[in-house]
Amino acid sequence: MRNTELNYDSPASIRAFLESGNLAMSKRFGQNFLVDRTVRERIVQALEMEPGMRVWEIGPGLGAMTALILERGALLTAFEIDYGFVRFLEGLFSGYDNFTIVKGDMLKTWRTQTERPDRIFGNLPYNVAFDIIMDLLKYGCVPPRMVFTLQKEAARRMTARPGGKEYASFGAICSSVCDVRILFDIGAGAFWPQPRVTSSVIQLVPKKDPVPFDRRRDFFDFVRAAFSSRRKTMRNSLYLWARASFPSLDEGEFGARLREGLKSMGFGVDIRAEALNPEELFLLYRALALSDSPCRSTASDGASC
Ligand code: SAM
Repeated sequence: MRNTELNYDSPASIRAFLESGNLAMSKRFGQNFLVDRTVRERIVQALEMEPGMRVWEIGPGLGAMTALILERGALLTAFEIDYGFVRFLEGLFSGYDNFTIVKGDMLKTWRTQTERPDRIFGNLPYNVAFDIIMDLLKYGCVPPRMVFTLQKEAARRMTARPGGKEYASFGAICSSVCDVRILFDIGAGAFWPQPRVTSSVIQLVPKKDPVPFDRRRDFFDFVRAAFSSRRKTMRNSLYLWARASFPSLDEGEFGARLREGLKSMGFGVDIRAEALNPEELFLLYRALALSDSPCRSTASDGASC
């Protein structure tokens, strides 16, 4: 079927197109198409792109966003897991020399790219959004701007601040590397098929003073440990983390470092992770890890992508 027969704004047209091309939709890959052109345009605007920029799109689907990006002269690399969609997109955009498609699971393929992107965006499948964002932050692929559409609840967790009930390890980790902001919400009616939830568009911009790249993997493990039990104080969960990371650290020394680290920030040992902002969590991590923390990463931000 030719592109002229596919109207990205019409669920009926998309359905007919999929049927005629023997393309099946897969629930497993979280396929909901953005059928509202105004929303698609707003997302493109949020990217603040210039011609010639390298843009990565995660999950182009049938290419509704892809077309808008290519028209603006960006060098687009699209990552798509659905091989039926890949074949369709290869045909559709074969006339564009600024279009590259990478087949397969983005979590496995992005590190094969040698050029670092200026922008990353995607209407992310909800089930893998978390893993993809964590992977990019952890392995230092943090371009000047990322724009993701994801479940509103996940967006709220990413932007939550200490004290709120949505504040957890994911939000603390994201905010330790990027300034994260919700730009706008998208109602379910803007998608086909309609998801059961509202979505939000979020923007991630690298912080001026992010957690250093060579400490990130270790720090992320530390944050997950700190938040691992809402019922307990951090001491027990962090001791397990410390024992795994520094087998030679004895419990007395650990307790002393924890007390001192918290005291230097004006907190007592009964404080919970939910009360500490990402900067305070990093100070505490440094107090515990000191110089004996293994550096498990080797590159600076972006060098690995
Ligand atoms: N961008 C299109 C749009 O907005 O209409 C489609 C978005 S749809 C919610 C998610 C897309 O991500 C699907 O095309 C799906 O096949 C793709 N996808 C899901 N998991 C993926 C993964 N791990 N790597 C790459 N693409 C993936």
